[in-house]
Amino acid sequence: MFENAGRTEISSLGEFGLIEHLSKNFTIQNNTQLGIGDDAAVITPTEGYQTLVSTDLLVEGVHFDLSYFPMKHLGYKAVVVNLSDIYAMNGKPKQVTVSLALSSRFSLEAVEELYAGVQLACERYRVDLVGGDTSTSKQGLMISVTAIGEAKSADIAYRSGAKVHDLVVVTGDLGGAYCGYQLLEREKRVYLDNPSVQPDLGGFDYIIERQLKPEARKDIYEILKTLHIKPTAMMDISDGLASECFHIGKASQVGMSLYEEKIPIDPSTYNFARELDLDPTLCALSGGEDYELLFTIDQSDFKKIEHHPDFSIIGYVNEKSDGMNLITKSGNKHALKAQGWTAF
Ligand code: ADP
Ligand code: MG
Repeated sequence: MFENAGRTEISSLGEFGLIEHLSKNFTIQNNTQLGIGDDAAVITPTEGYQTLVSTDLLVEGVHFDLSYFPMKHLGYKAVVVNLSDIYAMNGKPKQVTVSLALSSRFSLEAVEELYAGVQLACERYRVDLVGGDTSTSKQGLMISVTAIGEAKSADIAYRSGAKVHDLVVVTGDLGGAYCGYQLLEREKRVYLDNPSVQPDLGGFDYIIERQLKPEARKDIYEILKTLHIKPTAMMDISDGLASECFHIGKASQVGMSLYEEKIPIDPSTYNFARELDLDPTLCALSGGEDYELLFTIDQSDFKKIEHHPDFSIIGYVNEKSDGMNLITKSGNKHALKAQGWTAF
């Protein structure tokens, strides 16, 4: 799809020319002493803060499919999913590095698009691009982002702090990104069978956006501060609610009980899941890639978030020996499976 109009070979710029070209529009606004251009970036630590570091590697054909994933969105998402990990520690991201491996299939124009997405994410989330690495690959595209952030020691929310009787809370709504993925995969199959058929994505903008243009919950950091809430444990939802509950459960040595009826699902997620004969609750529990935050709070904080539109209280923490449970809408109690329910 990039082979046609206005194609410039990356080899015509060389590695240094490419980096200079891609990074020239980025500005530095945080505690970055020196960004791109030397052997290492130089960062001035903020007094009283600790440094948070997180990395993700995205591989073409494994984590994304360029037949429907636009390059600009890929650049944006690659940054955002890493920022989400910093927010999930109750910290603030400040810098990112971006590393690429590119096969000769990719033109300069395609990589420019990717960096337009990286830049948009850097601007929206106010983080500095301070470095990276660039390599060729035999096949396909790989992109790795490292996010660097800061938090006060007392503010950091680990996975290990949940305690029995805490409340389990999630932000936003769940299952949308998975349904968006299912929709894009469906339309891709239709297109491959008959390229003259136009994709039918009408009415499902929300779930497509959840898949192609996820956002990290940068607002929650401020909201929790304003409400004087420090989560006892927190993580972001990248693999699906069930799997993340197990992570907190394992790190904190506790179990949980979740109420199916309390799990927030957007109407368009619900309707699409129904159309495909999928259980919307399963999409939320096992779908992943929603990049919402899952956290536990002390019961005494209940009143502070009871009616807050950004939060849903979905259950409570119980003894480890009582396990990880889902209480269904009909009132039955089921043991949650570690991989969610692999019924897909
Ligand atoms: P080295 O040989 O030390 O790895 P490079 O020539 O790869 O250095 O990189 C030169 C500078 O450009 C460094 O500051 C590096 O962090 C930065 N850089 C390299 N690749 C990228 C990239 N894809 N995105 C952003 N910065 C990059
Ligand atoms: Mg290098």
